[in-house]
Amino acid sequence: MAPPSGPPGVTPSMIRAPPSQLGQTPLPGSPLSNAPPYIAPPPGRPMGAPAPYMANPNPNPNPNPVSQPPQAGPPAAAAQPNPVMGLAASLQNSMIGTPASQSFASRPFPSTAQRPVSVPFSGSLNQNPLGSKGSGPFPGQPASQPYPGPPALASQPVRGPPQLFPGQIVGQPPMGQPPMGQPPMGQPPMGQLHMGQPQMGLGPMGPPSMAAPPMGAPPMGSAAAPFSGSAWQGQQRQGGMLAPVRMAPAGMGQQSMVSTPGAVMGYSPHAGAQVGTPSKIDPNQIPRPVPSSNSSVVYFETRQGSVVSPPPPATSDFIVRDTGNCSPRLMRCTMNQIPCNGEILTQSCMPLALMVQPFALPHPSEEPIQLVDFGEMGPVRCVRCKAYINPFMRFIDQGRRFVCNLCGFCNDTPRDYICNLGPDMRRRDADERPELCRGTVEFVATKEFMVREPMPAVYFFLVDVSMNAVGTGATAAACSAISQAISDIPEGPQTMVGIATFDSTIHFYNLKRSQQQPVMLIVPDVEDVYTPLQTDLIVPLGECREALEQLLESIPSMYQTNKIADSAFGAAIKAGFLALKPTGGKLLVFQSVLPSLGIGSLSSREAEGRTNVSNADKEPHKLLQPADKTLKTMAVEFAEYQVCIDVFLMTQTYVDIASISVVPSTTGGQIYYYYPFSAVSDPAKLYNDLRWNLSRPQGFEAVMRVRCSQGLQVQEYSGNFCKRVPTDIDLPAIDSDKTIMVTFKHDDKFQEGAECGFQCAILYTTVHGQRRIRVMNLSLPCTTVLGNLFRSADLDSQFSCFLKKAANGIPTTPLTQVREQIVNHCINILGSYRKFCASISSSGQLILPEALKLLPLYTLALIKSVGLRNDGRLDDRSYWASHVASISASLAVPLVYPRLISIHDLTSMEEGDSVLPAPVALSSEYLSDEGVFLLENGEDALIYVGGMVNPEILQKLFGSPSLEGVPSQLVLQQFDNDLSKKFNEVINEIRRQRCSYLRLRLCKKGEPSGMCFHSYMVEDKAPGSLSYVEFLVHVHRQIQIQTKSN
Ligand SMILES: [Zn+2]
Repeated sequence: MAPPSGPPGVTPSMIRAPPSQLGQTPLPGSPLSNAPPYIAPPPGRPMGAPAPYMANPNPNPNPNPVSQPPQAGPPAAAAQPNPVMGLAASLQNSMIGTPASQSFASRPFPSTAQRPVSVPFSGSLNQNPLGSKGSGPFPGQPASQPYPGPPALASQPVRGPPQLFPGQIVGQPPMGQPPMGQPPMGQPPMGQLHMGQPQMGLGPMGPPSMAAPPMGAPPMGSAAAPFSGSAWQGQQRQGGMLAPVRMAPAGMGQQSMVSTPGAVMGYSPHAGAQVGTPSKIDPNQIPRPVPSSNSSVVYFETRQGSVVSPPPPATSDFIVRDTGNCSPRLMRCTMNQIPCNGEILTQSCMPLALMVQPFALPHPSEEPIQLVDFGEMGPVRCVRCKAYINPFMRFIDQGRRFVCNLCGFCNDTPRDYICNLGPDMRRRDADERPELCRGTVEFVATKEFMVREPMPAVYFFLVDVSMNAVGTGATAAACSAISQAISDIPEGPQTMVGIATFDSTIHFYNLKRSQQQPVMLIVPDVEDVYTPLQTDLIVPLGECREALEQLLESIPSMYQTNKIADSAFGAAIKAGFLALKPTGGKLLVFQSVLPSLGIGSLSSREAEGRTNVSNADKEPHKLLQPADKTLKTMAVEFAEYQVCIDVFLMTQTYVDIASISVVPSTTGGQIYYYYPFSAVSDPAKLYNDLRWNLSRPQGFEAVMRVRCSQGLQVQEYSGNFCKRVPTDIDLPAIDSDKTIMVTFKHDDKFQEGAECGFQCAILYTTVHGQRRIRVMNLSLPCTTVLGNLFRSADLDSQFSCFLKKAANGIPTTPLTQVREQIVNHCINILGSYRKFCASISSSGQLILPEALKLLPLYTLALIKSVGLRNDGRLDDRSYWASHVASISASLAVPLVYPRLISIHDLTSMEEGDSVLPAPVALSSEYLSDEGVFLLENGEDALIYVGGMVNPEILQKLFGSPSLEGVPSQLVLQQFDNDLSKKFNEVINEIRRQRCSYLRLRLCKKGEPSGMCFHSYMVEDKAPGSLSYVEFLVHVHRQIQIQTKSN
């Protein structure tokens, strides 16, 4: 519980620290420290007392400036001595591999395509980032698989039509070597068929195919092994991670097969009709994420010369070395080879999109992003398309000219930047210059990129003090959280804060030091809002810390007897905005009831929703659209002035999240949702959420653009931002948790063997007031072979696309249709593979591309998720949609397919195992009545207690031999026994991994809470929905129909 003080100088061995300390310690010069350790603050910690857990003391994403590129030297060598040695061992103990997926191997490919990009980035960057108003008004303030189970094939005798093995999945290619730790991609050794040569009639016990490349073998067709042992000490080859990707004849690649009964007719996916003989599929043999019992971390080099290795799964543990392409944490493509033309892409039915998470937390052992300062001349850019210099620009003519990898233009090299070429035709200084050898760098922005001085870090808090807010304890919780979190804010000279409260009117407080007591200034007009003061509403934190703490302590009692039930939310955020308008900044709103008064007030649409929401065929989805455009219009104006709004909803009623969420989503913020709010259990989460909000790596007043090689063009951006011009997105704030999805379409063709480049540039201001341009590059090989697309498909990214598209569809399309679209999308992808790539044509088998074999499972989980099931509350669904809009690829899968682990037997885990036990499949079959289980999706953690749990276990975990009286909204305590201690360790490790505090709920068998828990058992059959086995049969059937009709 001691704050891991974060003195620099942390060594990798720190990773052995208890979970509570993990990630606390930013590496010296590390771009960002690790995820925060989330620990419950002692409930009732007195306000103003020092926070028990230090916030990341170094949120500055770029603390390791390299002032002169030439001196950069071997990147980070000094800052991070020996980053690899000893890591693997310690990481093994502390990191858990997450379930899901597998990866692939590398393949070679060469380069370049061209395309003129019309609007130069600098064009808009040169514009006032504030829009037209930036300078004027504010002078002074300038501006996988083994199928988890053992190969239990023998248990299911061969029978039924198709003579292949019913009930069996044949993984392809067989991978002999058992996976090390990580999601084994390998198939069970028995019953495998070699892909290209199905041996019909070979019994399930048949020997593994000889022809199959052994798992650990280097990828075929590529000159270099993707992970060369010499480069990465301690690195483990992962069985599954290196599935050979061979440039084999189309379609002969990796695939999985699930035999399904041939005669399954006339059955509808949602009607829950009887499936023919699903029992012929052995549930132990269907694709599931592979738990890794003894997790190990994967080392990933983004490129090996001309070889691009597909990244490890987003959900796995890995350490990246940037060798030309950016880290997959920052940009991850739905496919790791790019289709040469639109026809192949269309044929594949797969989405082509990038998941961009520009401030994603690096692994603590990764090298920091290098800062490059070109001085007054600014970063070298392509004259035509304004792309930034990057490792894929090709120098020619003795270094005097360079060819842009995006548009193909041949540029003159600036005189000061000329350097001779070596025999390899690279610049002789290429390895010393980060911008020429790293996929991600940051450039110091020159004056050209500023229309005003970079803005200070400004935080303005708005607290609901209406009757309900005070009565439920929400006001007190908010004040306490703010008070504690403020002590964690890095107090730069430029850090400013302000505060206001509101009910039917708005109350500002003058925090100026000269005032003995903060003076309250009331703004009664909630239709035409103004601010009472031009100055002094926002003051440097150093000047008002004490006054602010006192004020926060007194606010709950000041309004203790408040009888005003109305809440002028819209007016309050407008007023807060006016206070922030001169500088821009973050507005953090703590709201408890439906906004009922003044500008942007809302009516309770829930009553209408309640009668309709259970019937998905009517139009309840319209209730998931904003009530009107008022808040959206306001939000666009906020964004223009660089004001980002986060809304903390602590409520026990409907608050119309559909309407409220447009404010954060337009301004780069987010919604936090505490429902039903509990004054007992939620304050700890609120504090941790707020603290992470303030201390996580982030940037302000950002503008982002993605460029790509000629042949492709950006189709659409999706996420939390404001868009005023077609090419750029405006982000008043951007932080490490936010992901922006960028979709692409072809506008031309690529040559086979060419590379397609992607470059994301984000201009932003650091929390310390420095203007920077973070540039991330990804260059991927192009292919005309459909099989290569499937082989290089990225499951996590593709599923993220599914998820985001579903969320986008929710407000405009009836739920049944959204579900159908998602299922059809899945079927079309798998159907395309079946039709064009699969090597076995037996109709009795469902053949899945290896890389996407979990797609059906995740699709099923998605249509059963909170967002897409019929029985959800309106606000729950709206919250889900808004949460999903900016979710990262690494959290997308767990949100929908949560992690389930058993708790009652934690003490039987051996020393040296990872903190977390291997996850269990989401099926009731795995829940024993004597067991206690934990299910977590990154947001919520449900603790399920079976009906016959040993009272001793209950006593150890909950401090009582029976659950009577133990509230469902649990406050986790640690008791003096091993089981309790391990349970707490597990929870804290999950919090750390997810960067989320998690809401704990107790679910008891036989009670509604238990039913709620069971709704997450996505493999189960439920009323109106299919079991996993049934779903596979359905998918298979649809593919058969598709295939026949063609
Ligand atoms: Zn160019």
